[in-house]
Amino acid sequence: MDALATNWHDRAARLDIRTKAFIDGRYVDAASGKTFEDVSPRDGKVLARVAECDAEDVDRAVASARKAFESGVWRDQHPRDRKRVLLKLAQLIEQNADELALLETLDMGKPIRDSRSIDIPLSARCMQYYGEAIDKLYDEVGPSGPNSMSLILREPLGVIAAVVPWNFPLMMAVWKLAPALATGNSVVLKPAEQSPLTAIRLAELAVEAGLPPGVLNVLPGFGETAGQALGRHMDVDMIAFTGSTEVGKYFMRYSGESNLKRVSLECGGKTPHIVMPDAADLDLAAKNAAGGIFFNQGEVCNAGSRLLVHESIKDEFLAKVVEYGKSWTPGDPLDWNSRTGAMVDDRQHGRVLSYIEKGKAEGAVLKSGGNAARTETGGFYIEPTVFDGVDSGMTIAREEIFGPVLSTLTFRTTEEAFRIANDTIYGLAAAIWTKDLSVAMKAAKTIKAGSVWINCFDAGDITTPFGGFKQSGFGRDKSLHALDKYTDLKSVWIEL
Ligand code: NAP
Ligand code: MG
Repeated sequence: MDALATNWHDRAARLDIRTKAFIDGRYVDAASGKTFEDVSPRDGKVLARVAECDAEDVDRAVASARKAFESGVWRDQHPRDRKRVLLKLAQLIEQNADELALLETLDMGKPIRDSRSIDIPLSARCMQYYGEAIDKLYDEVGPSGPNSMSLILREPLGVIAAVVPWNFPLMMAVWKLAPALATGNSVVLKPAEQSPLTAIRLAELAVEAGLPPGVLNVLPGFGETAGQALGRHMDVDMIAFTGSTEVGKYFMRYSGESNLKRVSLECGGKTPHIVMPDAADLDLAAKNAAGGIFFNQGEVCNAGSRLLVHESIKDEFLAKVVEYGKSWTPGDPLDWNSRTGAMVDDRQHGRVLSYIEKGKAEGAVLKSGGNAARTETGGFYIEPTVFDGVDSGMTIAREEIFGPVLSTLTFRTTEEAFRIANDTIYGLAAAIWTKDLSVAMKAAKTIKAGSVWINCFDAGDITTPFGGFKQSGFGRDKSLHALDKYTDLKSVWIEL
């Protein structure tokens, strides 16, 4: 990785940024001719002016996606040929990793080391995984008895609209695109307004890889216009959404008020991170408690934002968390040594700071951080912040902050820990540190969450499903299970 450690500032200055919509296999302006400012949170300066798509562009892109789907130009290709295209796309993502990482870092503020060694390589790996799966998927034959035969076939849905957030812009997009394309669908992707640049570039790479025109369209633009138009479109068969619970609920409404399109929702979280007094390695747990909330500026749906520590070890443990937290002090996102960068925009910056004020006002005890940082840069940075003395009723224990703010609660018994863990509208993830196998497995069974980590945090890979219980949403990304939501079952019964 040493060769990667230098020169990012120079390379950023030389970047050639694509800013148009991508419809029917080529870059086009928005029909209205409008553009919007894409600001870099690194310094608050305008990075690019990007095509501002709205309902008319949605119509154009959906029509193109529909035409491509019905023509069979993609879904009717032999599986091994479609496999070749997605594997080539994975390879192109890898080959262009420096450029894509720079775009991601400048656009949304995360450290270049993370975008170059996490976001982009994992996006490539995800594309590769689903590409490799294509020619290994079998349909079913039912147990229909000797005089008949039944086939249970999986068919692609048609036109998928993917609407994604800004915290892992390319990766969240690829988590949707890869399984949707692998199963033969066409896709219209709307990236978040804060971070459209890697999605725009990806469309071009997809065509270079051999994806036929119309199979992937990318529409930068705003949620209320382009996003809503996709949600209400009569010819979109499914919405694959990642974002807030609030907007997830809008998509349910859009579907009900239009064509009953399928909806899958990956929404917010308020992950409990439980530390039992018998944890084997409290230093390791504390390191993970800090990383679990401060990684990616805390802009992670499954961030361990509620630290639940047994009262007997709380002071000792929290001191360690505060100490480890210092290494997550924000720096220049283009500096390879920075572990934390800027909040995505001015609005999110202000929102997080107002949660910190609310925490203080409601009586939580500020142990570290709490302020804006690097204000001289013009960018949107926040210190790693730790609160003690939080109880379950406080706003900072209930609402998703989506920033580097840790709320610490204490418990006396295991039952109490599990009760607090479940005392939330969310159910995305949970973690527990303990040597006691029974307690660990009780946690896994009792806590309502899509992922439970035992003696680790945010662990796993593309082979395990990811998604929520409760108001964290439904439907799963990653693993072979993700293929289910982009397909429908068709039963064929044959009398012999
Ligand atoms: P968001 O505001 O819900 O936006 C997500 C996407 O929806 C964006 O593309 C957005 O467009 C669009 N949108 C916004 N309002 C809309 C509307 N009225 N109609 C249709 N589309 C609309 O979420 P965010 O602030 O970008 O991301 C943070 C949230 O995402 C957090 O709650 C986080 O927990 C969640 N998240 C969840 C996961 C997961 O896998 N569970 C992963 C990452 C993030 P604009 O860009 O114009 O707003
Ligand atoms: Mg931006």
